[in-house]
Amino acid sequence: MIIPLDIKAIICLREKITMSLKQPEQKSGHIVLPGERLGVIEEFIPDSGTYVKDSIIYSKIVGHALMDILNKRVSVYPLVNSDVTPKVGSIVLGQVGNAQTDNALVRIFKVGTKKISGVFGGVLHISDVSDRYITSMNEVCKSGDIIRAKVISVKNQAYHLTTQDKNFGVLYAFCSRCSTITNIDHYELRCPKCGNIEKRKTAIDYGVEIL
Ligand SMILES: [Zn+2]
Repeated sequence: MIIPLDIKAIICLREKITMSLKQPEQKSGHIVLPGERLGVIEEFIPDSGTYVKDSIIYSKIVGHALMDILNKRVSVYPLVNSDVTPKVGSIVLGQVGNAQTDNALVRIFKVGTKKISGVFGGVLHISDVSDRYITSMNEVCKSGDIIRAKVISVKNQAYHLTTQDKNFGVLYAFCSRCSTITNIDHYELRCPKCGNIEKRKTAIDYGVEIL
């Protein structure tokens, strides 16, 4: 018997849906970004390149996710794309690491449209944040945030960044109370979970770019 095409298509679609319900997590080999969900601790033992928050395993770095089903381990291997290095004038995306009063360290994971291994360290100094006077980096960005910036100079293998443009600044900010990604609402960043208001130097397209 020949099954009409539309029924085949329906069966195929149903299988796809069932699969996606069964496997909501990342599959092996996929490129993952910092903060991307990999699984839960009931399923996997978190290994290198990961961190756990509220029983959920996330990627700490940009890399390939490795799901070791046999040993029930999940790890992330750094992505190596040696062809791409930030240069003066490059637009980069990065995750804020340590943020001090007058500067913030940024782990660069994207140069232009290319994802890189995250080995390049950027520095954003308070004087390069904005045209207006900023008193503390605390109102610019916080650890964990994803920012877009431009490379202004390279000194001692540190990439000095600027966010002095409406297109530059924080793209995703995490609530400092509960770590939820905050939403922008009338120029204000508000946590959808706990209602906390956060202050950042946001890019004009906050929350839009798909990482
Ligand atoms: Zn919150």
